[in-house]
Amino acid sequence: MAELTHYIGGTRVAGTSGRFADVFNPATGEVQAKVPLATQAELDAAVDRAAAAQPAWAATNPQKRARVMMEMVRLINRDMDKLAEALSREHGKTIPDAKGDVQRGLEVIEFCIGTPHLLKGEYTDNAGPGIDMFSMRQSLGVVAGITPFNFPAMIPLWKMGPALSCGNAFILKPSERDPSVCLMLAELFTEAGLPDDILQVVNGDKESVDAILDNETIQAIGFVGSTPIAAYIYERGCANGKRVQCFGGAKNHMIVMPDADMDQAADALIGAGYGAAGERCMAISVAVPVGDETADRLVEKLVPRIEKLKVGPYTAGDDVDYGPLVTGAAKERALGLVNSGLEQGAELVVDGRDFSLQGYEDGFFVGPHLFDRVTKDMDIYKQEIFAPVLCTVRAQSYEEAIGLAMDHEYGNGTAIFTRDGDTARDFAHRINIGMVGVNVPIPVPLAYHTFGGWKKSGFGDLNQHGPDAFKFYTRTKTVTARWPSGLKEGGEFAFKAMD
Ligand code: NAD
Repeated sequence: MAELTHYIGGTRVAGTSGRFADVFNPATGEVQAKVPLATQAELDAAVDRAAAAQPAWAATNPQKRARVMMEMVRLINRDMDKLAEALSREHGKTIPDAKGDVQRGLEVIEFCIGTPHLLKGEYTDNAGPGIDMFSMRQSLGVVAGITPFNFPAMIPLWKMGPALSCGNAFILKPSERDPSVCLMLAELFTEAGLPDDILQVVNGDKESVDAILDNETIQAIGFVGSTPIAAYIYERGCANGKRVQCFGGAKNHMIVMPDADMDQAADALIGAGYGAAGERCMAISVAVPVGDETADRLVEKLVPRIEKLKVGPYTAGDDVDYGPLVTGAAKERALGLVNSGLEQGAELVVDGRDFSLQGYEDGFFVGPHLFDRVTKDMDIYKQEIFAPVLCTVRAQSYEEAIGLAMDHEYGNGTAIFTRDGDTARDFAHRINIGMVGVNVPIPVPLAYHTFGGWKKSGFGDLNQHGPDAFKFYTRTKTVTARWPSGLKEGGEFAFKAMD
């Protein structure tokens, strides 16, 4: 059985706690590796080393730091196949999906190549008599990231790239479900020229997360994961005086207007609802057709498409649509919610409960499910299921449909499918949700924009990646300077003579 490590001081380091978590092969249900769970003392020691190394990294000119990112782009592309395989092996997603995961992280590293430009400050000449004023963005020191299982390369890269580019040392606590790809990325950073101790990967569970929250050296924390943990980390991190941003769960609605291209809408729902087994924070989990006729047409188009979905292990080839869930517990929870939907009166149009795959009977596969006539009070509507389960809520008007999305506690992403510009514009302006798609089901902003949800999907006031990340990982210092050479004897200013 493979025993994974931490990554400290530019090398893989065995854990000393004696505590481990199981890393499963989700396709077979077998434990394939053990990951060490760090103690507070291990975490603190990694932070101390990072703090000692950070000033020299902060003093390295930004163009040199950007060159590490440039080299990282080359190395990630070189190792794309290996990274995707390691990711699929522990997460279960298909290889094309795993490559997409790495790719969307890579795009943020590409954005970070612009660090010298992104960190430029502001300057006011002659702010007062002989006085110039300028601001600069300085690194925070040691910062930390705590990341979820579902994008084990993308989200760590979203955090590592900007944090490191800004001159910080970075402590990453990846998900204990699929940590291998982060260890590989850390090795690539070393190969790319990042000095030792500037990036530490400390594996762990609640104990190491609490150690991050309480460590006095750590200045800022970026978290991505479920909402209850996001709320906990935000509260405790802020109480300890840290800068904290937390991104939580989601329940993304896609409104389908009667004038929408129904084939396009159905295709979009298949990709956005069932892709990656529904384990995406930007997955569409609620379809809201407007009017019963629209609902009937949509469901009629969805059913044959769902029945064609190919579910299997990533090793079965690139035509597999989605793989298993990440753990047996995730599968049990999803099927429990499906049963609750039936008990609470929803209509199960496509029932995937009996799904089984020959040769992989103990894997964490869940067949695709489609619910119709879901209502607001049902648990399948209120909770994030994070599985291939799409709920249809029939709305009788556009106002009712937008109201549903607005009233839901989550506010990560949403979409509207329509041919009407007025409706689309109204939707984009009024909706209280962070990322909006118009005839685009998964509106994930590109690296040079920012990513973040509203309501219970986001805590803190800056988004991930794009210009916000460079604000989050730096603080502004403003200097007001007056030089004696600007003064004539007697206090008259030399430049006045030039007027
Ligand atoms: P999770 O909340 O279980 O775990 C996230 C991180 O928190 C992990 O590193 C984990 O080790 C740690 N953690 C777990 N329990 C903890 C506890 N009790 N105390 C302290 N730390 C703890 O989330 P997950 O299951 O890994 O990821 C799926 C969730 O992440 C979904 O809710 C999904 O919507 C969300 N997500 C959100 C975004 C976004 O940008 N909004 C992106 C991806 C995933």
